[in-house]
Amino acid sequence: ADEVVLVGRSNVGKSTLMRELTGHQFDTGGKPGVTRQPNHYDWAGDDFVISDLPGFGFMSGVEEEHRESIKTDIVHYLEENADNILVGVIVLDGKAAVDIIDRHSGEDEVPHVIDLYYLFEDLGIPPVLAVNKMDKVDDRDERLNEIADRFGLFPPWEQWADDTIAPITAKKGSIGALEDVVRHHLESEKRDDLK
Ligand code: GDP
Repeated sequence: ADEVVLVGRSNVGKSTLMRELTGHQFDTGGKPGVTRQPNHYDWAGDDFVISDLPGFGFMSGVEEEHRESIKTDIVHYLEENADNILVGVIVLDGKAAVDIIDRHSGEDEVPHVIDLYYLFEDLGIPPVLAVNKMDKVDDRDERLNEIADRFGLFPPWEQWADDTIAPITAKKGSIGALEDVVRHHLESEKRDDLK
């Protein structure tokens, strides 16, 4: 697998994170819900690409029909490329994520990020939660436990720190936790290849 997929609502810090990961300047912005072809970037040092799949998380103001077609596009892309995808990184705003998830949880509604988490799992793509903007979070452990809980990951969050939950502050370049988690998956894949 040589691809890392990155998703998240707008404003969670995807472009900032991508810039830190790749050393390239770019903008993941653009209109909410407008799907573009996945972009590929070299991850400095390591030999794989990072694809940014905009449009999944933030689709308010987008018509239902268009919304469904965006979702279908993304699902197709992931299905076709699942074998090549090392991890599916879901970028969250550490300060806002729980409120947003809870606001969108209801009888007929599953928040997009949760949906996507399970989609990754179903496709055999290890999901990774990059919890960004940790510099704005005071009650760090409590907040990370809440986030873990929303994704069905039994607290304490530290149990998931090796392979799933990576608290980061992209803006200050502190993304080591995410790099460690990605490396963890890379290494366990290499071990599997040797079997
Ligand atoms: P995108 O829409 O997901 O690509 O988000 P951007 O990378 O454009 O970031 C959105 C806003 O969040 C910008 O004002 C960033 O400076 C800010 N931001 C990104 N990462 C962090 C972070 O780790 N901490 C804080 N406090 N702000 C951040």
